[in-house]
Amino acid sequence: LSQLFRPLDMLGWVYRTIRQGVLDMGAMFDLVDTPAEVTDAPGAAPLVVRSGAVRFENVRFGYDPERPILKGIDLDIPAGATVAVVGPSGAGKSTLARLLFRFYDVSGGRILIDGQDIAQVQQASLRAAIGIVPQDTVLFNETIGYNIAYGREGATAEAIGEAAKGAAIADFIESMPDGYETRVGERGLKLSGGEKQRVAIARTLLKDPPILILDEATSALDSRTEAEIQATIERIERGRTSIVIAHRLSTVVNADRIVVLDAGRIAEQGSHAELLRRDGLYAEMWNRQAAEREDALAAAE
Ligand code: ATP
Repeated sequence: LSQLFRPLDMLGWVYRTIRQGVLDMGAMFDLVDTPAEVTDAPGAAPLVVRSGAVRFENVRFGYDPERPILKGIDLDIPAGATVAVVGPSGAGKSTLARLLFRFYDVSGGRILIDGQDIAQVQQASLRAAIGIVPQDTVLFNETIGYNIAYGREGATAEAIGEAAKGAAIADFIESMPDGYETRVGERGLKLSGGEKQRVAIARTLLKDPPILILDEATSALDSRTEAEIQATIERIERGRTSIVIAHRLSTVVNADRIVVLDAGRIAEQGSHAELLRRDGLYAEMWNRQAAEREDALAAAE
């Protein structure tokens, strides 16, 4: 009997190993914990991105059917626009991004890119169209060049250099004796939070996707680094449809639109000025964070 079960055991091992690979990738994106089995619909065609308009239509979702997380989201993001998603912790901001990348299928409604339902297109084509700059970037014990090119097989040294320049990390890399051959990781160069984010930005530039998801780091960088990263991010957002999951409101002021998510619903949306005038949840969050910033400044003096 054990003879019979051995191949099954083996299959289980292969399955777990593959799944682990998916999980590692997910951990890298920091957008997913346990990806569900999402498969291509029979006869799925590749996604054709014309301008990159994104539309959520009455989207409903829960990781557990008993506990809805998104309760009917309607959101239209015009091609090339930047939308910031803000809201209390646990409101469903990252979940929204995970659904767009189709780590999970929606349980109601649909998500469209240029009019095509993402559940009906080939996953690979969907994921090729979307770049993610995660909260925390995992780097490999490899050269910095490898880390930038990660996922772009055959990227030329020139393209890697261009991407590093776009992410404002080229000077830093070139100042090291081994340049792009410098090893990072345990026994190599240790990168700061801001430098790691720049590597993630460079990776995304190399991918050059029409749609961007930026999951802003919760851990604060020092204010100068943050301002520099913010400027770099605003540059890479140009010409792409961008969704910024923002934990700090100071970085969303310039977004074309701010969407305030609260308990799985859109509570309000508008520009920074419009939302302040509304004097609702956003204004309350803004005033609270402004007070915290002042306290932090006073404490630093
Ligand atoms: P934060 O600002 O704290 O990152 P968020 O608005 O991005 O929060 P989500 O990460 O989207 O919130 O989570 C929304 C809800 O879904 C939370 O209550 C969370 O506990 C739950 N949740 C998130 N991921 C999973 C998962 N893999 N399995 C089950 N529940 C999950």
